[in-house]
Amino acid sequence: MGLIVQKFGGSSVKDTERIFNVARIVTETYSKGNNVVVVVSAQGDTTDDLIAKAAEINPNPSKREMDVLLSTGEQISISLLAMAIEKMGFPVISLTGWQAGFKTNSNYSNARIRRIESERLQVELDKKNIVIVAGFQGINRYDDITTLGRGGSDTSAVALAASLHADLCQIYTDVDGVYTADPRIVKDAVKLDEISFDEMLELATLGAQVLHNRSVEMAKKYNVKLEVLSSLEDKPGTQVKEVIKMEKMLIKGVACDDDVARVAIIGLPDQPGIAFKIFSSLAKRKINVDIILQSIGRDNTKDISFTVPMSQKDAALICLEEEKELFKAQRVEMDDTVAKVSIVGAGMQSNPGVAAKMFEALFEADINIRMISTSEIKISVLIDKSQSRRALVAVHNAFDF
Ligand code: ADP
Ligand code: ASP
Ligand code: MG
Repeated sequence: MGLIVQKFGGSSVKDTERIFNVARIVTETYSKGNNVVVVVSAQGDTTDDLIAKAAEINPNPSKREMDVLLSTGEQISISLLAMAIEKMGFPVISLTGWQAGFKTNSNYSNARIRRIESERLQVELDKKNIVIVAGFQGINRYDDITTLGRGGSDTSAVALAASLHADLCQIYTDVDGVYTADPRIVKDAVKLDEISFDEMLELATLGAQVLHNRSVEMAKKYNVKLEVLSSLEDKPGTQVKEVIKMEKMLIKGVACDDDVARVAIIGLPDQPGIAFKIFSSLAKRKINVDIILQSIGRDNTKDISFTVPMSQKDAALICLEEEKELFKAQRVEMDDTVAKVSIVGAGMQSNPGVAAKMFEALFEADINIRMISTSEIKISVLIDKSQSRRALVAVHNAFDF
């Protein structure tokens, strides 16, 4: 008995049958004597469909209006799920993000949760209601609707679990846990019984969309007990936690991200302060930079390339074009035909051969590496996007899971 937060993603609520399936899971948990808070995403492809609909009207809508539009998807889900639970004879109430007290900053389309004012939610729990909350949304200080970024309902769920001091946060999805690679692409991917917050955070950031990366960050910060499991099969999922079994696997997983672009600034003066100027300009505009490569200086010039998320490539280009004079660059280039493939594992810190093994697998698959970046627990390479799935499989095959 306790307080459990359960989150169901788009595929888990995609039609009437699935909504009743979710209602069954929720009411069973409630019938065992638990308080239950449920977070749901928009049904199926609703969010993508809404984005397409907006593009028909205006190819460049304001982010504020986009958030007003996208938040409607989750509002449909909460009401339908509440109606299903009502029909099954249980006490239930649905709350939008603002009713549930999600206060965010004003970064429309990628807002961060500042705090959750959970008094209303607590009142409903005290009345023994099952509380259904719209994921992915909140309001800013002007009472305008914001959304948390694609996949953000996971973060809504973990934030609620942290704020209500829930005993458990369960992320129900269409796979039965976290795998060593996307099981839809890599047939031999292995399900993990557990994974550490740090490894899961890297995997999520590097393209494994099974969890929103900020949800993992938050679960680690507030030590939320987090579990990923299937809404369609009743079996144990994956525990995401701080410390895991001592016998560490060398590599925990392989991830692939097609949504990246490479930017190159060519012909920069080879002198101190240039990298500082470039990356502080990008940071001021909140552009996330990942793999960075600087060429060796030649004829008093050098080149700097880096990757950015696809969604920020135009902003990065505009920033660099505007500031080109300041950096004294000859020209700026952009390439969006690239993808990033990464391996993640805390065990690689003390094992020197890991990078070589990854590069050998790519060589044998005849895949060219365009950039490399490493940290203590990950190695990422940039390759051609057309080869990303093949690379994911080849790299996964090179390691024993
Ligand atoms: P939801 O709608 O429930 O939020 P998502 O589509 O966001 O579901 O995330 C689940 C999907 O994540 C799976 O269908 C799977 O294809 C993908 N995925 C990518 N990498 C992994 C991984 N390492 N383990 C499990 N699933 C993964
Ligand atoms: N519906 C939103 C999306 O598709 C949020 C989510 O599913 O987590 O990105
Ligand atoms: Mg998701």
